[in-house]
Amino acid sequence: MQDWNNIRNQFPVLKTQVNGYALSYLDNGASSQMPESVITRLASYHQHEHANIHRGVHYLSQTATTTYEETRRLVADFLNAESLEQIIFTTGTTDSINLVAESWGSSFLSDGDEIILSEMEHHANIVPWQMIAQKTGANIKVIPLLDNGELDLDIYANLLNERTKMVAVVHVSNTLGTVNPVSEIIAMAKNVGARVLIDGAQATPHMAVNLQELGADFYTFSAHKMCGPTGFGVLYGNKSLLEAMPPYRGGGDMIDKVSFSGTTYNDLPHKFEAGTPPIASGVVFGEALRYLNKIGMDEIAQRESYLLKYAMKGFKSLQRLQLFGTSNNKTAVISFLLDDIHPTDAGTILDKYGVAVRTGHHCTQPIMERFGIPGTIRASLSFYNNEADIDALINGIKETQSFFN
Ligand code: PLP
Repeated sequence: MQDWNNIRNQFPVLKTQVNGYALSYLDNGASSQMPESVITRLASYHQHEHANIHRGVHYLSQTATTTYEETRRLVADFLNAESLEQIIFTTGTTDSINLVAESWGSSFLSDGDEIILSEMEHHANIVPWQMIAQKTGANIKVIPLLDNGELDLDIYANLLNERTKMVAVVHVSNTLGTVNPVSEIIAMAKNVGARVLIDGAQATPHMAVNLQELGADFYTFSAHKMCGPTGFGVLYGNKSLLEAMPPYRGGGDMIDKVSFSGTTYNDLPHKFEAGTPPIASGVVFGEALRYLNKIGMDEIAQRESYLLKYAMKGFKSLQRLQLFGTSNNKTAVISFLLDDIHPTDAGTILDKYGVAVRTGHHCTQPIMERFGIPGTIRASLSFYNNEADIDALINGIKETQSFFN
C-alpha cells in the first residue's frame, strides 16, 4: 500500500501557491514534475561526476560514461527490450519520430507506398511522415476516429494492403486519453508485412510497457513526461532494421573511421547518437526511472485510474459541459468544453484559482477538425495529484461558468 500523501510531498513544486491558492497541477500531459531525489541528482552529477563521455580515459569521463550508460540499461529493463543496442537516446519523442521517418523512410519508402497514421496523432507523428512522403512519393492514409475517441478499426482493416509499408500510431492519445489496442493494431499491420511505429509519449508515464510482448518495430517517448528532464528521450527499434538504416546525423561518436576517401559508422546504438549528448539529462532520467520503478508502474496505473473515477464523479455534478474522449479504456486525461466559453478564457479563470490545465488544440489539430471545435480544456492527471486538486478543478469550473453567466 503506497502512502500517496508522502509521495506528493516529495515534489517541491507542488507546494507552490498561485494567486493565493494551492497549486493544482493538472497539465501533466504536457510535462510532469520532478521529485526531490531527481532534482538533487542533477546537482550531485555536476558536483562530482561531470565530464564528456565515451572518449576520455580519465576518471571523470569513465565515471560519467558508466552512469550515463546505466540509464540505457534502466530504459531497456523498463521496456523489457531484448538488448541495449536497441535503445537510442534522442532529445525526445519528436526527435525519435523524425529519425525514423527520415532514416527508415529514405531507405525503405518509394513512390506509391502507403503510410497509415490515425486522426488522433500528435503533430509529431504526422508532420515528419508528411515530409518524407513528399520526398519519396509515398501516400498517407488516415484511420478515422469514432465519436467516443476510439479508432475505427474496421476502416483500418480496409486501409491495409500490400502497399502499406508503415503504420505509425499513438499508444495513448494526449488529447482524449484513449488507450489504443496497439497489440491488435500491430498484428494487423504485420499481416500485410508493414512496419509499425508506436508513439508511446503518453503511455510510458502511466503504465507498464512490455516491448517484447508488443512486437512494435519502433517505440518512442520523452523523459520530461516521466518525472525526468526536458531535452531527453528514447527511440527503441528492431535491431536488424536499425542496422539496415543509414545514420540520421553525422559527427563525432557515431563513426568508426573517418577519412576523405570514405567514412564508416559506429555500432548500434551510437550510430544514431552524433555529438555530445545531453549527458546530465541522461543521468537524471536514470534517477527518474529508479523513482518510478520504486513506486511501480502497475501501482501508478491503479492510482491514476482511481483519480480518474473520482474526477468523473465530480464532473457528473456539472452542467453545460461536453466531454471528448469517453472510451472505457483511457488514462486520466479529461478533455472538455463549457458550452460556448472559449477554452483559453476558461483556462485563464481556472488559473486564478491555482488550477493549471492545458487549453487549445494540444498539437492535435486533426482531432479538433474531426469534432468541429477550436480546442478543448484538458486536465491531465498524474499519480501525485490528489482529491483536493480535482475538487479545485470542479470548483474552478463552477466559478468559470458563473463568471460567464
Ligand atoms: N506524441 C505525443 C502523444 C505527445 O503527447 C507529445 C507531447 O506532448 C509528443 C508526441 C511530442 O513530445 P516531445 O515534445 O517531448 O517531443
